[in-house]
Amino acid sequence: MRFDILTLFPGMFAGPFGESILKRAQQAGLLEIALHDIRTYATDRHKSTDDYPFGGGAGMVMKPEVLYQALADVLGFGPAAQASETLELLPEERPPVLLMSPAGEPFTQRMAEELAQQPRIILICGHYEGIDERIRECCVDREVSIGDYVLTGGELAAMVIVDAVARLQPGVLAAASTEEESHSDYLLEYPQYTRPATWRGQPIPAILTSGHHANVARWRHEQRLLRTLQRRPDLLQKAVLSPRDREYLRRHGWGTSPAPDDSAAS
Ligand code: SAM
Repeated sequence: MRFDILTLFPGMFAGPFGESILKRAQQAGLLEIALHDIRTYATDRHKSTDDYPFGGGAGMVMKPEVLYQALADVLGFGPAAQASETLELLPEERPPVLLMSPAGEPFTQRMAEELAQQPRIILICGHYEGIDERIRECCVDREVSIGDYVLTGGELAAMVIVDAVARLQPGVLAAASTEEESHSDYLLEYPQYTRPATWRGQPIPAILTSGHHANVARWRHEQRLLRTLQRRPDLLQKAVLSPRDREYLRRHGWGTSPAPDDSAAS
């Protein structure tokens, strides 16, 4: 899978993309990340990429022409766009163009799974007050927000999206790692333990060393239900629950409010 990232600050990506799993995935040829420096498409002698907002107000707005040339180049019609005075619409057959924006649709695990089906995605990182609205209208397929807060730029949002989508690519992680994890089916993950079995007087739940695989699986599933009930009861509306799950949840207070606290976990 290939990501093309349009950014004013390509240097910001070196750490997150140059370490650990994403680094290995790139080395293995499972993942390609191309960083495109928007500033190289500026044509004036100051290489300016932003300008004052029409109508006044604080901050600067990213200029449409510079972003358009960057997009055109990444999509392969750069010289034609440069020569033309009119707006050439982006080709119909193109990778999805995502704009990082606090006003976008919330990024979720579902969206990550959907995007993971694409062979290539283009991400635009805004800065300052954001981008000229005409670029959004002509060239953006989806605006995506990583949360209800405002970042200084879209780079961190793009890193989050690349990370969440890339780890779903076959071969990037061990096959079973993305099963039963938080949000995979609207349930949170069960608690995890590793050695030693007793740490500073705290033993792990005895069931985990029982050797009884079916009971361990059932315990883990119930822990997922309980955690979701305690921490994110809103997710249970979307989860596929068996009659046994529903009965278990009701026994632990589902349907009564407020939701029970963590002390009910054992
Ligand atoms: N004036 C804009 C507004 O109120 O919507 C905020 C601009 S913000 C300071 C600069 C850039 O950071 C945005 O253009 C966007 O690319 C990125 N950004 C900020 N918060 C974000 C979020 N929660 N999710 C995704 N991108 C975000």
